[in-house]
Amino acid sequence: MDRFRALREEAYEANMRLPELGLVLFTFGNASAVDRNEAVFAIKPSGVPYADLKVNDMVICDFEGKAVEGKMRPSSDTKTHAVLYKEWSEIGGIVHTHSTYGTAWAQAIKDIPIFGTTHADHLTSDIPCAPPMKDEYIQGDYEHMTGYQIIDCLKERGLDHNEVEMILVGNHAPFTWGKSAAKAVYNSAVCEEVAKMAQLTLQINPNANTLKEALKKKHFERKHGGNSYYGQEQ
Ligand SMILES: [Zn+2]
Repeated sequence: MDRFRALREEAYEANMRLPELGLVLFTFGNASAVDRNEAVFAIKPSGVPYADLKVNDMVICDFEGKAVEGKMRPSSDTKTHAVLYKEWSEIGGIVHTHSTYGTAWAQAIKDIPIFGTTHADHLTSDIPCAPPMKDEYIQGDYEHMTGYQIIDCLKERGLDHNEVEMILVGNHAPFTWGKSAAKAVYNSAVCEEVAKMAQLTLQINPNANTLKEALKKKHFERKHGGNSYYGQEQ
């Protein structure tokens, strides 16, 4: 009896959605799912093409990023996932891709401005771009420090990771998270679509204005608070 079977399945399903949604090429990217009771997460093994992935290939790791069960070596980004799970107790899944448009904004080291309601339906701030990593972090425990780069960027900007579930890391690419691995995958696709729309907006009108405050407020309020009416009642 494999006590991590359900967790491996959740991580596997999330990983397999990434090529389906056009968010990854070759072996790029990784998704993970957490089990809070056991304080472990399941993540894609390193360097395995999606077409060859199997449920049992998912590696079980602890919050220090150490593999505790599994035959393969975990994703090279495992320590970034570990840091985020350890720091943010509410999240259930994490996704990292090098999706084209999100990565282009990360490489340009630009926040993705909030231009429209598609963006505002998911978050009512710009999608932040964390600064590129310092040399000492790159030369040190790089993947571990990438996690802190993400956490520190949100802190410095006063953003809540329960509201803003996506970020770009400067010079690198997007990271997303959510209450479940499936939600983190969804956020990864949203980030890519919003990145694409923002770029096209600026191509059509380099002076396009960002979303009016009244619309930002409206979209925030319809998802939150006592009078929210977005989606179905739970
Ligand atoms: Zn990467």
